[in-house]
Amino acid sequence: MSSNDPAPQTRLLRAGRPHKGWVNTPVTRASTYIFENVAQWRDVRARRGDERLASYGARGTDSTFALEDALIELEGGYRAKAYCTGQAAIAIVLLSYLRAGDHLLLTDGVYEPVRRFCKEQLTRLGIEFTYFLPDGSDIAEKIRPNTRLIYVESPASLTYDMLDLPAVAELARKHDCLVAADNTWGSGYLYRPLDLGADISVCAATKYLSGHADIMMGTVVTNKRAWQPLEDATVDFGQTIGADDAFLMLRGIRSLPLRLAAHGKACLQVAQWLQQRPEVARVYCPALPEDPGHALWKRDCTGQNGLLTIEFVPAIDAASVERLIDSLQLFGLGASWGGFESLVIPVNIGAARSIGDWSKHGAMIRLHIGLEDTNDLINDLEQAMHSCLPRIG
Ligand SMILES: *Cc1c(COP(=O)(O)O)cnc(C)c1O
Repeated sequence: MSSNDPAPQTRLLRAGRPHKGWVNTPVTRASTYIFENVAQWRDVRARRGDERLASYGARGTDSTFALEDALIELEGGYRAKAYCTGQAAIAIVLLSYLRAGDHLLLTDGVYEPVRRFCKEQLTRLGIEFTYFLPDGSDIAEKIRPNTRLIYVESPASLTYDMLDLPAVAELARKHDCLVAADNTWGSGYLYRPLDLGADISVCAATKYLSGHADIMMGTVVTNKRAWQPLEDATVDFGQTIGADDAFLMLRGIRSLPLRLAAHGKACLQVAQWLQQRPEVARVYCPALPEDPGHALWKRDCTGQNGLLTIEFVPAIDAASVERLIDSLQLFGLGASWGGFESLVIPVNIGAARSIGDWSKHGAMIRLHIGLEDTNDLINDLEQAMHSCLPRIG
C-alpha cells in the first residue's frame, strides 16, 4: 500500500455508494424487473450467472448490490452474498462445497448451533465430519483423502482460541481442500481471513455489522476460485434478503470501525479489572498478554471486540453465579452480541465442546461489553459479585 492509499476506515465509508447525487443508495423494494424487449431479456439471463445484473428481486437489487460492495471492501474478497441469518449463511456454505462421501474438518470451538446442523443435516446427506482442537494443532493428523473443507473459527466461540490460519490454508492447498472461516468475532475489520489464506469468510452480520440489535443477517464473501458453488447454491435454495434490511445493514457498517474501537477499549479495561478479582480464575480474551492466543492475535488481528468469558474459581458454585447474572443491572441476559448494549449469558462449556474434559473447570459466563460508560459497567459487576458470591481469599 502506498502512503496515499486511503485507510480501511476511509474505504469502508465510500464503498457501496452512488457515484453522484444521494449519499446513500435508495431502498429498492422489488421482485419484478421489466425488460425492454426479448433480446435484452435473453441477454441478461445469459449473463446473470457471472455478472451482477438486475433481472429478478431474488438475485439482488441496487440495495443488495450496494451492501455486497461494502462486504467485498470489508473482507477483501471477489464477490459477496447476504442471507437471512448467520446460521443460514453457514448452512449454505457447508451445503455449497460438500457432497455425499466428502469429509468436513471443523473446529471444536465452532458456534454451537452448527454442531447440530452437522449431526442432523450433514449426516443425513452422507457427509462425514470430525472436530479438531480450536488452536488447530491436530488438523494435519486428522485430514483424510476425502476432506474437502476445513471450517475454522478464530478466535473460537466462548474461549477465543486463535489458530494459525496461514499455516492451515497452506496445509489445505496441499490436500486440495477449501478453507472457510466464521469471521463473526472479527467482522471483517479486526480480522481478514481471506487475506490470511481462507477461501470463504462467513459473518453473522446480526452482530457487529448491524451493531444495533435490530437486524438478523448472515454474509459470505469468497475469493474467485470458491465463488461459483456458493452462487449456484444460493440460487438453488432461493436465498435472498430484503432491501430494507440491506439498507439498515449498510448504515450500521459505516460506524463499524468506531464502534469496535470503543467496544475493544472498554472490554480490555473490564478484563483487566476482572483479572484482579479473587473470585476469577481466568479471563478468556486474546487481547490480554496472558492469553495463550495473544501472540497470534497480535500478529493477525487489528484489535479487540467487546467479548470476554469469565471462569470463576472452583469454590464458587453455579447457583451463586446464576444469582450474580440475575442481579446485574446493566447487563441484559440474552443471546447474540455486537449491539450497542452490554449482555451476559451463562456458559456450559462442556456442552459446547466434543474434545477434552471440561468438568474440572469452574463456572463460566460470557460478557459482551457494550458502549455504556465503562466505570458504570465495572461498578455493576462489583455490586453483583459483592452481593451474590461467597467471600474468597
Ligand atoms: C451469532 C453467531 C452466528 C449465527 O448468527 P445468527 O444471525 O444469530 O444466526 C454464527 N456464528 C457466530 C460465531 C455467532 O456468534
